[in-house]
Amino acid sequence: MRFAGKVAVVTGAASGIGKAAVLKLAGEGAHVFAADIDEAGGKALAEASNGKIEFLRCDVTVAADIEALMNEAAKRGGGIDIVFNNAAAGGDRAPIDEISPEGWDWTMNLVLKSVAMGIRYAAPHMKGRKGASIVNTASVAALGAGYSPTAYAVAKAGVLQLTKVAATDLAQYGIRVNAICPGFINTNIFTSTLEVPDASKDAAKAIIADMSAHAQPVARGGQPEDIANAVAYLASDEASFMTGTHMLVDGGLTIGQRHAW
Ligand code: NAD
Repeated sequence: MRFAGKVAVVTGAASGIGKAAVLKLAGEGAHVFAADIDEAGGKALAEASNGKIEFLRCDVTVAADIEALMNEAAKRGGGIDIVFNNAAAGGDRAPIDEISPEGWDWTMNLVLKSVAMGIRYAAPHMKGRKGASIVNTASVAALGAGYSPTAYAVAKAGVLQLTKVAATDLAQYGIRVNAICPGFINTNIFTSTLEVPDASKDAAKAIIADMSAHAQPVARGGQPEDIANAVAYLASDEASFMTGTHMLVDGGLTIGQRHAW
């Protein structure tokens, strides 16, 4: 029960990594405000929770939505202790020599500005609260090219730099800021954003699951709970000496392929 008495806000809470983080934080005692554009998914999560989880609708591409989310969570919860800025999707998939200015802007807004505004509007409610912690979802895409589409990879790299500058800006208020870099995790992000010619969305998901299980050193697909466990650690007082850094949870994907011998 590391989060007993704590108030947490999680974005992208209706599915995948966000949902696993909501259940982990609530399971260890937090009162969690679960935010998403998916109202059905978010409400279902809250209804199954005996009051430990409240759903608040929020589109993270709209700064006013994020401001309203943080204000409402702080009002109902009496402040905010933990924020997990997690919502995103794959963004525009075009390579750099084809991407449109609109596609670039949309991806930066969805993947990077959303996190900046999450910090911006949560921080005033977190100042001076003991153990205040912000965790942002970056990606292996932030660390190397080729894992994800161009604009998404650039935006996720921006999330890492944002994490560092926010950590320095907010240290004076006792707020820690860290990032998580998931590898390939089996969630809906692939079925919702991957465009694979001549293959169904189910086939796209199977391709990713198969790649995760056979190429990376840890021979299984990553699960949302693998990331939620790391998020809970970063959000907890056990990580009280960590700020402005990232945790890589990728089954060894970024160190290279597993050898056969
Ligand atoms: P997911 O599709 O399962 O969940 C994403 C959630 O975000 C959904 O509930 C969706 O409704 C919500 N969402 C999307 N756009 C939103 C918006 N504008 N406002 C509010 N909510 C919105 O995907 P996931 O894999 O759990 O993704 C969570 C985070 O993890 C994302 O930031 C993603 O970029 C990152 N990530 C995922 C992987 C992976 O392999 N799954 C790897 C690295 C990073």
